[in-house]
Amino acid sequence: MSQPLEGKNIFWTPSKVTPEQRDRRSGQSGCVVWLTGLSASGKSTIATELESALFRQGKLAYVLDGDNTRHGLCSDLGFSPEDRKENIRRLGEVARLFGDAGIICIAAFISPYGADREQARQIAPPGKFIEVYVNAPLEVCEQRDPKGLYARARSGELKEFTGISAPYEPPLNPELELRTDQLTVAECVSAILERLEKISGA
Ligand code: ADP
Repeated sequence: MSQPLEGKNIFWTPSKVTPEQRDRRSGQSGCVVWLTGLSASGKSTIATELESALFRQGKLAYVLDGDNTRHGLCSDLGFSPEDRKENIRRLGEVARLFGDAGIICIAAFISPYGADREQARQIAPPGKFIEVYVNAPLEVCEQRDPKGLYARARSGELKEFTGISAPYEPPLNPELELRTDQLTVAECVSAILERLEKISGA
């Protein structure tokens, strides 16, 4: 891409290292595992177990966690529809960079809007985006409530809470759907590892 960005004097500097060279060096292929689902559906739990399992296999994986990124990169954003969109736009870009760098990027974000997730898929390395619907019924998530957020949302103290007072659009065509009310954490991790083997040499 050597054309300047339309209307701006910004050019793309191409890398001299190809994705294939990176893959040969690291023995793996970068990709994005995108975990989406309600709060308390199990995204962070699965993400950290998956990262740890990959690490034990000698792979380089890294978790981007929605709560963690709100401490820094996205600390200026709230939970309005516009801010959620911008949150996922930024995180999709970061996930793409990790994938480009050859890392197995495990993104754990509620990411409630289908269009925003689709945008993240579009910019990820082609064919290297696995959308995982981490699915537990709202009642189960609410019963788990590990951070006490559902209780606060029900009492009206927390506004714009996904599943209670803000929408969640379930994925229509995810690569994987994990019913975390029916599967163990280990079973969920195995299912993702199996899928990863097909695309990343992980
Ligand atoms: P999220 O990141 O989606 O908000 P968390 O991972 O923080 O969710 O919390 C999910 C809770 O559900 C944890 O307490 C976890 O132990 C529990 N849990 C039960 N079964 C599963 C499963 N199969 N996968 C993931 N989490 C599960």
